[in-house]
Amino acid sequence: MILPILCVKCKNQPAETSAVEGRLKLCPKCFIEYFERRVKESVQKFHMFTHEERVAVAVSGGKDSGALLRSLKRAFPNLDIVALHINLGINGYSEHCESKVRELVKEECVELNVFKLSEEGFTIDDFRKTLYKNEVCSPCGIVKRHILDRMALEVGAKVLATGHNLDDILSTLLHTFFSGDFVQLVRLKPVLMPQHPYQTKKVKPLIKMSEFEDYQYALYTEIPIRELNCPHSIGTKSREGKKILESLSKGNPNFKYQTLSLFLKKLIPMIEDKVKQPNLMSCIRCGFPSSTEVCAYCKRVEMVKRVGKRA
Ligand SMILES: [Zn+2]
Ligand SMILES: [Zn+2]
Repeated sequence: MILPILCVKCKNQPAETSAVEGRLKLCPKCFIEYFERRVKESVQKFHMFTHEERVAVAVSGGKDSGALLRSLKRAFPNLDIVALHINLGINGYSEHCESKVRELVKEECVELNVFKLSEEGFTIDDFRKTLYKNEVCSPCGIVKRHILDRMALEVGAKVLATGHNLDDILSTLLHTFFSGDFVQLVRLKPVLMPQHPYQTKKVKPLIKMSEFEDYQYALYTEIPIRELNCPHSIGTKSREGKKILESLSKGNPNFKYQTLSLFLKKLIPMIEDKVKQPNLMSCIRCGFPSSTEVCAYCKRVEMVKRVGKRA
Protein backbone atom coordinates (compact mmCIF):
# COMPACT_ATOMS: atom_id res chain seq x y z
CA MET A 1 0.00 0.00 0.00
CA ILE A 2 1.32 3.44 -0.92
CA LEU A 3 0.68 5.99 1.80
CA PRO A 4 -0.28 9.46 0.59
CA ILE A 5 2.20 12.25 1.22
CA LEU A 6 0.80 14.37 4.01
CA CYS A 7 0.47 18.14 3.99
CA VAL A 8 3.53 19.69 5.64
CA LYS A 9 1.37 22.26 7.44
CA CYS A 10 -1.58 20.41 9.02
CA LYS A 11 0.06 16.97 8.79
CA ASN A 12 -3.28 15.20 8.54
CA GLN A 13 -4.61 15.84 5.01
CA PRO A 14 -3.07 14.40 1.86
CA ALA A 15 -0.84 16.91 0.04
CA GLU A 16 -2.53 17.59 -3.28
CA THR A 17 -0.50 20.50 -4.52
CA SER A 18 2.74 22.31 -3.93
CA ALA A 19 3.82 25.87 -3.43
CA VAL A 20 7.16 27.70 -3.76
CA GLU A 21 8.17 25.82 -6.93
CA GLY A 22 7.39 22.38 -5.54
CA ARG A 23 9.17 22.80 -2.20
CA LEU A 24 6.06 22.98 -0.01
CA LYS A 25 3.62 20.06 -0.29
CA LEU A 26 0.21 21.21 0.88
CA CYS A 27 -3.43 20.20 1.11
CA PRO A 28 -5.89 22.56 -0.64
CA LYS A 29 -7.01 24.26 2.60
CA CYS A 30 -3.44 24.99 3.73
CA PHE A 31 -2.51 26.11 0.20
CA ILE A 32 -5.30 28.72 0.25
CA GLU A 33 -4.10 29.97 3.65
CA TYR A 34 -0.50 30.07 2.42
CA PHE A 35 -1.51 32.07 -0.67
CA GLU A 36 -3.52 34.69 1.20
CA ARG A 37 -0.88 35.08 3.90
CA ARG A 38 1.86 35.60 1.32
CA VAL A 39 -0.17 38.22 -0.57
CA LYS A 40 -0.82 40.03 2.72
CA GLU A 41 2.90 39.91 3.60
CA SER A 42 3.86 41.40 0.22
CA VAL A 43 1.35 44.25 0.63
CA GLN A 44 2.70 45.04 4.09
CA LYS A 45 6.38 44.55 3.30
CA PHE A 46 6.35 46.90 0.31
CA HIS A 47 3.85 49.37 1.91
CA MET A 48 1.45 49.01 -1.00
CA PHE A 49 -1.53 50.66 0.70
CA THR A 50 -3.03 51.44 4.09
CA HIS A 51 -6.48 50.59 5.44
CA GLU A 52 -7.67 54.14 4.81
CA GLU A 53 -6.92 54.11 1.10
CA ARG A 54 -9.41 53.22 -1.63
CA VAL A 55 -7.83 50.51 -3.76
CA ALA A 56 -8.80 49.97 -7.39
CA VAL A 57 -8.17 46.41 -8.64
CA ALA A 58 -7.85 45.84 -12.38
CA VAL A 59 -9.72 42.64 -13.31
CA SER A 60 -9.58 41.05 -16.75
CA GLY A 61 -11.52 37.82 -16.31
CA GLY A 62 -8.26 35.82 -16.08
CA LYS A 63 -6.86 33.73 -13.23
CA ASP A 64 -4.26 36.23 -12.02
CA SER A 65 -6.50 39.26 -11.55
CA GLY A 66 -9.24 36.99 -10.19
CA ALA A 67 -6.83 35.54 -7.63
CA LEU A 68 -5.73 39.10 -6.82
CA LEU A 69 -9.23 40.38 -6.13
CA ARG A 70 -10.26 37.39 -4.03
CA SER A 71 -7.07 37.16 -1.97
CA LEU A 72 -7.03 40.92 -1.27
CA LYS A 73 -10.66 40.81 -0.19
CA ARG A 74 -9.96 37.91 2.16
CA ALA A 75 -6.64 39.22 3.49
CA PHE A 76 -8.07 42.72 4.08
CA PRO A 77 -11.82 42.25 4.68
CA ASN A 78 -12.44 45.91 5.60
CA LEU A 79 -10.51 47.43 2.71
CA ASP A 80 -12.41 49.77 0.35
CA ILE A 81 -11.96 47.89 -2.95
CA VAL A 82 -13.35 48.86 -6.34
CA ALA A 83 -12.92 46.55 -9.35
CA LEU A 84 -12.12 48.05 -12.76
CA HIS A 85 -12.69 46.19 -16.02
CA ILE A 86 -12.09 47.26 -19.61
CA ASN A 87 -14.17 45.57 -22.29
CA LEU A 88 -11.65 45.68 -25.14
CA GLY A 89 -14.16 44.87 -27.86
CA ILE A 90 -12.31 41.75 -29.03
CA ASN A 91 -14.75 39.70 -31.04
CA GLY A 92 -15.75 36.39 -29.44
CA TYR A 93 -13.63 37.09 -26.36
CA SER A 94 -14.34 40.36 -24.54
CA GLU A 95 -18.02 39.69 -23.77
CA HIS A 96 -17.04 36.32 -22.28
CA CYS A 97 -14.36 37.99 -20.09
CA GLU A 98 -16.79 40.64 -18.89
CA SER A 99 -19.37 38.02 -17.88
CA LYS A 100 -16.75 36.21 -15.74
CA VAL A 101 -15.76 39.47 -14.07
CA ARG A 102 -19.42 40.19 -13.28
CA GLU A 103 -19.79 36.75 -11.67
CA LEU A 104 -16.68 37.27 -9.55
CA VAL A 105 -17.53 40.74 -8.21
CA LYS A 106 -21.01 39.49 -7.33
CA GLU A 107 -19.50 36.68 -5.26
CA GLU A 108 -17.10 39.11 -3.58
CA CYS A 109 -19.68 41.90 -3.11
CA VAL A 110 -17.27 44.39 -4.67
CA GLU A 111 -18.25 47.51 -6.61
CA LEU A 112 -17.50 47.16 -10.34
CA ASN A 113 -16.77 49.78 -12.99
CA VAL A 114 -16.76 48.62 -16.61
CA PHE A 115 -15.40 50.72 -19.44
CA LYS A 116 -16.40 49.72 -22.95
CA LEU A 117 -13.61 50.68 -25.32
CA SER A 118 -16.12 50.91 -28.20
CA GLU A 119 -17.35 54.10 -26.48
CA GLU A 120 -14.04 55.69 -27.48
CA GLY A 121 -14.97 54.97 -31.11
CA PHE A 122 -12.68 51.96 -31.70
CA THR A 123 -11.83 48.48 -30.40
CA ILE A 124 -8.61 46.47 -30.05
CA ASP A 125 -9.62 44.45 -33.12
CA ASP A 126 -9.49 47.68 -35.17
CA PHE A 127 -5.71 47.85 -34.65
CA ARG A 128 -5.38 44.94 -37.09
CA LYS A 129 -6.16 47.42 -39.84
CA THR A 130 -3.19 49.58 -38.79
CA LEU A 131 0.51 48.91 -39.28
CA TYR A 132 0.38 46.69 -36.17
CA LYS A 133 -1.46 44.07 -38.26
CA ASN A 134 -1.71 40.91 -36.14
CA GLU A 135 0.54 42.18 -33.36
CA VAL A 136 -1.92 44.23 -31.40
CA CYS A 137 -0.53 43.44 -27.91
CA SER A 138 1.61 46.55 -27.91
CA PRO A 139 -1.17 49.12 -28.59
CA CYS A 140 -3.47 47.05 -26.34
CA GLY A 141 -1.01 47.50 -23.43
CA ILE A 142 -0.85 51.26 -24.05
CA VAL A 143 -4.66 51.50 -24.21
CA LYS A 144 -5.14 49.47 -21.03
CA ARG A 145 -2.62 51.52 -19.03
CA HIS A 146 -4.24 54.80 -20.09
CA ILE A 147 -7.85 53.71 -19.52
CA LEU A 148 -7.02 52.18 -16.11
CA ASP A 149 -5.34 55.44 -15.02
CA ARG A 150 -8.44 57.33 -16.12
CA MET A 151 -10.85 54.93 -14.42
CA ALA A 152 -8.88 54.92 -11.15
CA LEU A 153 -8.96 58.71 -11.13
CA GLU A 154 -12.70 58.75 -11.79
CA VAL A 155 -13.52 56.39 -8.92
CA GLY A 156 -11.27 58.35 -6.55
CA ALA A 157 -8.76 55.54 -5.94
CA LYS A 158 -5.25 56.56 -4.95
CA VAL A 159 -3.91 53.04 -5.52
CA LEU A 160 -4.21 50.76 -8.53
CA ALA A 161 -3.44 47.06 -8.01
CA THR A 162 -2.70 44.78 -10.96
CA GLY A 163 -2.37 40.99 -11.16
CA HIS A 164 1.22 40.81 -12.44
CA ASN A 165 2.68 37.57 -11.09
CA LEU A 166 6.27 36.44 -10.47
CA ASP A 167 6.55 34.84 -13.92
CA ASP A 168 5.20 37.97 -15.67
CA ILE A 169 7.67 40.17 -13.83
CA LEU A 170 10.68 37.92 -14.46
CA SER A 171 9.91 37.33 -18.14
CA THR A 172 9.51 41.08 -18.69
CA LEU A 173 12.69 41.58 -16.67
CA LEU A 174 14.63 39.30 -19.03
CA HIS A 175 13.16 40.96 -22.08
CA THR A 176 13.76 44.55 -20.97
CA PHE A 177 17.25 43.71 -19.67
CA PHE A 178 18.37 42.19 -22.97
CA SER A 179 16.85 45.00 -24.98
CA GLY A 180 18.62 47.55 -22.72
CA ASP A 181 15.38 49.27 -21.80
CA PHE A 182 16.33 50.20 -18.23
CA VAL A 183 13.53 52.74 -17.89
CA GLN A 184 10.97 49.94 -18.28
CA LEU A 185 13.09 47.67 -16.10
CA VAL A 186 12.82 50.05 -13.14
CA ARG A 187 9.05 50.15 -13.68
CA LEU A 188 8.83 46.46 -12.70
CA LYS A 189 9.20 47.42 -9.04
CA PRO A 190 6.40 46.25 -6.70
CA VAL A 191 5.35 49.85 -5.99
CA LEU A 192 5.47 52.79 -8.39
CA MET A 193 4.73 56.19 -6.90
CA PRO A 194 2.75 58.69 -8.99
CA GLN A 195 4.82 61.24 -10.92
CA HIS A 196 1.90 63.33 -12.13
CA PRO A 197 -1.42 64.52 -10.60
CA TYR A 198 -3.37 62.22 -12.96
CA GLN A 199 -1.42 59.13 -11.93
CA THR A 200 -2.17 56.67 -9.14
CA LYS A 201 0.24 54.61 -7.08
CA LYS A 202 0.68 51.30 -8.95
CA VAL A 203 1.12 48.14 -6.90
CA LYS A 204 1.72 44.45 -7.68
CA PRO A 205 0.56 42.36 -4.69
CA LEU A 206 1.16 39.06 -6.55
CA ILE A 207 4.86 39.81 -7.17
CA LYS A 208 5.88 36.71 -5.16
CA MET A 209 3.20 34.35 -6.46
CA SER A 210 3.98 32.16 -9.47
CA GLU A 211 1.60 31.69 -12.35
CA PHE A 212 1.04 28.10 -11.20
CA GLU A 213 0.13 29.28 -7.70
CA ASP A 214 -2.38 31.80 -9.07
CA TYR A 215 -3.91 29.05 -11.16
CA GLN A 216 -4.12 26.68 -8.18
CA TYR A 217 -5.67 29.36 -5.96
CA ALA A 218 -8.25 30.19 -8.64
CA LEU A 219 -9.05 26.49 -8.95
CA TYR A 220 -9.34 25.73 -5.23
CA THR A 221 -11.41 28.80 -4.40
CA GLU A 222 -13.52 28.31 -7.57
CA ILE A 223 -12.95 31.73 -9.05
CA PRO A 224 -15.03 32.29 -12.22
CA ILE A 225 -12.35 32.73 -14.88
CA ARG A 226 -12.41 32.92 -18.67
CA GLU A 227 -12.22 29.67 -20.58
CA LEU A 228 -10.90 31.30 -23.75
CA ASN A 229 -7.49 32.68 -24.65
CA CYS A 230 -7.15 36.08 -26.26
CA PRO A 231 -7.16 35.44 -30.03
CA HIS A 232 -4.36 38.01 -30.43
CA SER A 233 -1.91 36.56 -27.89
CA ILE A 234 -0.56 33.57 -29.83
CA GLY A 235 3.23 33.40 -29.77
CA THR A 236 3.76 36.73 -28.05
CA LYS A 237 7.04 37.75 -26.46
CA SER A 238 5.76 37.20 -22.93
CA ARG A 239 5.04 33.53 -23.67
CA GLU A 240 8.50 33.06 -25.18
CA GLY A 241 10.03 34.70 -22.10
CA LYS A 242 8.13 32.34 -19.82
CA LYS A 243 9.43 29.31 -21.71
CA ILE A 244 13.02 30.51 -21.24
CA LEU A 245 12.26 31.05 -17.56
CA GLU A 246 10.93 27.52 -17.14
CA SER A 247 14.03 26.00 -18.67
CA LEU A 248 16.30 28.13 -16.46
CA SER A 249 14.33 27.01 -13.39
CA LYS A 250 14.72 23.31 -14.13
CA GLY A 251 16.79 21.69 -11.41
CA ASN A 252 16.82 24.86 -9.31
CA PRO A 253 13.50 25.49 -7.53
CA ASN A 254 14.99 28.66 -6.06
CA PHE A 255 15.83 30.24 -9.39
CA LYS A 256 12.81 32.56 -9.70
CA TYR A 257 13.00 33.77 -6.10
CA GLN A 258 16.76 34.30 -6.33
CA THR A 259 16.31 36.34 -9.51
CA LEU A 260 13.53 38.42 -7.99
CA SER A 261 15.57 39.08 -4.88
CA LEU A 262 18.62 40.01 -6.96
CA PHE A 263 16.45 42.41 -8.95
CA LEU A 264 14.83 44.06 -5.92
CA LYS A 265 17.79 44.17 -3.55
CA LYS A 266 20.77 44.67 -5.88
CA LEU A 267 19.88 45.74 -9.40
CA ILE A 268 17.14 48.29 -8.68
CA PRO A 269 18.99 50.22 -5.91
CA MET A 270 22.07 50.27 -8.16
CA ILE A 271 20.47 51.62 -11.32
CA GLU A 272 17.41 53.53 -10.11
CA ASP A 273 19.12 56.88 -9.67
CA LYS A 274 21.20 56.48 -12.80
CA VAL A 275 18.34 55.65 -15.13
CA LYS A 276 16.88 58.92 -16.19
CA GLN A 277 13.10 58.64 -16.18
CA PRO A 278 11.65 60.76 -18.97
CA ASN A 279 10.46 64.21 -17.92
CA LEU A 280 6.72 64.01 -17.63
CA MET A 281 4.51 66.71 -19.01
CA SER A 282 0.78 66.73 -19.66
CA CYS A 283 -0.48 65.51 -23.03
CA ILE A 284 -1.91 68.50 -24.93
CA ARG A 285 -4.94 66.41 -25.95
CA CYS A 286 -5.98 64.41 -22.89
CA GLY A 287 -3.99 66.00 -20.07
CA PHE A 288 -2.57 62.66 -18.92
CA PRO A 289 1.16 62.22 -18.27
CA SER A 290 3.36 61.94 -21.31
CA SER A 291 7.03 62.24 -22.22
CA THR A 292 6.09 63.87 -25.52
CA GLU A 293 3.61 66.62 -26.45
CA VAL A 294 0.96 64.08 -27.47
CA CYS A 295 0.83 60.91 -25.36
CA ALA A 296 1.23 57.34 -26.64
CA TYR A 297 -2.47 56.69 -26.12
CA CYS A 298 -3.68 59.72 -28.11
CA LYS A 299 -1.25 58.82 -30.91
CA ARG A 300 -2.68 55.26 -31.12
CA VAL A 301 -6.25 56.60 -31.07
CA GLU A 302 -5.42 58.94 -33.94
CA MET A 303 -3.82 56.07 -35.87
CA VAL A 304 -6.73 53.66 -35.41
CA LYS A 305 -9.34 56.28 -36.24
CA ARG A 306 -7.51 57.33 -39.41
CA VAL A 307 -7.69 53.82 -40.89
CA GLY A 308 -11.27 53.49 -39.65
CA LYS A 309 -12.27 56.46 -41.80
CA ARG A 310 -10.48 55.10 -44.86
CA ALA A 311 -12.02 51.63 -44.56
ZN1 LIG B 1 -2.95 20.95 5.25
ZN1 LIG C 1 -3.12 62.00 -24.52
